[in-house]
Amino acid sequence: MDNPHAPHAAVADRHAPQGGQPAPTAHTHPPAVGAVRPDGYVFGRAPMLVYWETTLACGLACRHCRATAQPDRSPLELTTDEGRRLLDDITAFGRPYPHVVFTGGDPLRRPDLEELVEAATARGIGASLAPAVTPDMTLARLAGLKAAGIQTMSLSIDGSDAARHDGFRGVPGTFAMTERAVEWAHQVGLPLQINTLVTDETLPDLPATYALMQRLGIIRWSLFFLIGVGRGSGLQEITPADSERLNHWLYDLAREAPFAIKTTEATHYRRVAIRRMQAEGLDDAAIAATPVGRGFGVRDGNGIVFIAHDGAISPSGFLPLAAGNVRTDQLAAVYRTHPVFTSLRDVSTFKGRCGRCSYVSICGGSRARAYAWTGDYLETDPLCPYVPPRGAANA
Ligand code: SF4
Repeated sequence: MDNPHAPHAAVADRHAPQGGQPAPTAHTHPPAVGAVRPDGYVFGRAPMLVYWETTLACGLACRHCRATAQPDRSPLELTTDEGRRLLDDITAFGRPYPHVVFTGGDPLRRPDLEELVEAATARGIGASLAPAVTPDMTLARLAGLKAAGIQTMSLSIDGSDAARHDGFRGVPGTFAMTERAVEWAHQVGLPLQINTLVTDETLPDLPATYALMQRLGIIRWSLFFLIGVGRGSGLQEITPADSERLNHWLYDLAREAPFAIKTTEATHYRRVAIRRMQAEGLDDAAIAATPVGRGFGVRDGNGIVFIAHDGAISPSGFLPLAAGNVRTDQLAAVYRTHPVFTSLRDVSTFKGRCGRCSYVSICGGSRARAYAWTGDYLETDPLCPYVPPRGAANA
C-alpha cells in the first residue's frame, strides 16, 4: 500500500510521550459541541444506547473478551421478569427512548431472548443484536429474532482469513461460520455491522480485512481499539503513533467505502476527521452533518450506558465502575445523577492533556483506557498523541 497513512507504516516508540502536532489555530478551532448532539439529543437526559449483557455464557473463548465469558449461564443473570422491568426502566428516560443492544457473552444462549426482544419492541424500544457465532446460531433463530423486532446485527471478524480470525476466537471453523452468518443476515433482511479488533497483531492485516469488508454487503465497519481489560489484558494495544496513522487511513477509507466506518474507544478519530475536513474547507455545519459529526460527544457514560449480566450499571462494558444496580436502583436516576456519570459528562473535570484539549467536548478520549492505564477515568487517554498547547481552554 502506498498510502503514507496506512496502518502498518513505521512504528514509533511504544507509548512514548508524543508531540509535534500543530496546535489548533483560529481557522482549525473545532466546532462547539457540548453534551448535546448537533440534532438536539441531550446526553444528560438519556443515553442513545443501552448495552445489555444478557448473559456471560458463550461457546467461544476469545483472547480479547471484555466479559471474560464462560461456558455456562450464571445464576446471577437478570431473570426474564427482571429483564422486562429493565425495559420498563428504559422507557422511564422518556421519548425518544434509547436503543437497546442485546449483547453478552452470547445472547443466543438465553432461551428467552425472543421474548425479551418482543418486550422491547412492544414498548417502542429499538433493538439490535450482538451475538457470538457458534452452532447456537441458525437461520431459523435469526429469522425469529428479526420477526421479534431486532433491527440490526453486529458480528465480529478480527482477521482477513480463517487462520487469523479463528486464532483470536479460540475455536477453529468460526471464520467459515461467520461467513455463513453474514449470508443468513442478508437472507432474513438484517442490516449488518462488522466489528474488528485493533491490536498490534491485527494492525498489519487491516488493509486485507477492509478488502474483505467490501465483499460482505455491510452497513458499518466498526474498529474497536483494544482496551487492556478482561482477557484483552493479555494482548497489546497499538502505539499512539500507529493509532494516529490508522485514524488518517480510516478517514481516507471512509470517503470511498460503500459502508460507514466508525471507531470504538478511539474518539480521537474525531479530532483527525475534523482537522481533515477543515483543511478541505468544510464549515462547522457541514462537519456536524457528516457521519462522524453525528457521533460527536458520544463516549462511555455520555450517550452510552452498560447493564452487566447481574444488573450492575456502568458507563460502558470497558469501564467497569458500577454506579448502581437495576435490581435496586432506577436506571435513569443513576445515569442522570451518579457522580461517575455526571463527571463523565462534565469535561471540565477531565485531567492531563484531555483536560486542556480544545477537542474535549467532541472527543474526550477513551475514559475506559484512561482508567485501565492509570486507575483514574478522568485522566488523559494514553493512546492519543495530541499535545494541546499549554493554557488552552476546553471547547
Ligand atoms: S487529547 Fe484527549 S480530548 Fe484531545 S484529541 Fe486527544 S484524546 Fe481527544
